Amino acid sequence: MTSSPWRLDPVASSDALRLLSGASCVLMPTHQNVDADGLSSPLAMMASLRQRGVRAVPLVTDDAIPANLEFLPGIEEVLVYGRDELPAYDMVCLIDCADRKRLGGFYRDDPTRLDGQLVPIVNIDHHVTNDRFGTVNIVQPQAASAAEVVTDILASWGTELTREIAQCLLSGIYGDTLGLRTDSTTSRTMRTAADLVDAGANPVPIVDALFRLKPRSSVCLWAKALQRVSWQGTLIYAELTPDVFSSCGATPVEAEGMVNFLLGTEGSLVAAILHRNAEGWRVSMRSMVPEVDVASIAAEFGGGGHPRAAGCSILGDIDARDHFVQRVDELAVSAMQAAHSGEA
Ligand code: AMP
Ligand code: MN
Ligand code: MN
Repeated sequence: MTSSPWRLDPVASSDALRLLSGASCVLMPTHQNVDADGLSSPLAMMASLRQRGVRAVPLVTDDAIPANLEFLPGIEEVLVYGRDELPAYDMVCLIDCADRKRLGGFYRDDPTRLDGQLVPIVNIDHHVTNDRFGTVNIVQPQAASAAEVVTDILASWGTELTREIAQCLLSGIYGDTLGLRTDSTTSRTMRTAADLVDAGANPVPIVDALFRLKPRSSVCLWAKALQRVSWQGTLIYAELTPDVFSSCGATPVEAEGMVNFLLGTEGSLVAAILHRNAEGWRVSMRSMVPEVDVASIAAEFGGGGHPRAAGCSILGDIDARDHFVQRVDELAVSAMQAAHSGEA
């Protein structure tokens, strides 16, 4: 763990407030395969803007709201792209989205929605790969979650920190830090989490929903996935096909956490889950050691993320997959060699 010096830029924060409070309706699309941070941060923002009389609507850009996030306060107000009608919005606020292309159909169906010309964009994030595409950008790569950044933004705005807002923000922090356990967790993260608990947030239902409770189908899924674990040098990975999910009656969100389970296996530098889809594979990657930066490995395949947790897509067939796994091993090994060259 490192101590983290990041500070919220007060000018950017007041610029964001000026823009957002002048809107009549703010749309907040989430990144695909949305996680606790990606959904709970917009929910906290929604509640904050409501205190100022501004309507804000989170929008999940996948087919459905993941079952493990249904406990979040305000979840009943979240819209689903393709299922619900979009409200007439005059502002977009993206939180936890490094890349507009990760907004799925919402972006693909009409890229002008996110070109910043049609409506202004407030971009709040903690991904090092964020390309600062907003009208206002608040990007803090040293923050362990977007929720940690949003906590500071709301405090700087004078938002009343209700129990519901605190619960959302703590869920985001717990989600991205695996319950204050990742390398990205700093003393500042812990202080922010403690402040949220003081404001009435309860970690117990968060830990239950995100890390403990699971349907029976998850055990079936994990059993099959663990039987399929493969190695490519220093890479440990498992490939999951739609068949595996359907034979267990499981949904993709139930594989969440599997990559973290593989991580830490003796002899590995990188762990990955390869989700088979129509175009190829969606990849979830984690790095075992600080020397290996999976965000830069993912970037070579058009993806991104954080140094220790990143993702990308492989387009193509088995050859593309084999090339990918070989390349990940190669890059991990050479990163280790580069980091340790010159050491006695
Ligand atoms: P996941 O493995 O899905 O939990 O994602 C780990 C991290 O990588 C998250 O911060 C994601 O936002 C990021 N990420 C995952 N897939 C992609 C992608 N295709 N492009 C850019 N970032 C990604
Ligand atoms: Mn996220
Ligand atoms: Mn995040």
